[in-house]
Amino acid sequence: MEIHCGNCREELDNEDIIIMNWINTLTHFTCYEQDTDLIKDIGSYGVIKNKYPFYTDSLK
Ligand SMILES: [Zn+2]
Repeated sequence: MEIHCGNCREELDNEDIIIMNWINTLTHFTCYEQDTDLIKDIGSYGVIKNKYPFYTDSLK
């Protein structure tokens, strides 16, 4: 099982630039429609998932 975008529901690729919001929902940069004040982090999915291991830990 992989993490999916909170908006378009497509599977996230390591190269995708994604946005992490205040409740840790991940969406593609291009899919994000909420207030920029609510953004916690931005980066490629590969980097974010290494930085916040709980995304993948919960899938084991
Ligand atoms: Zn998306």
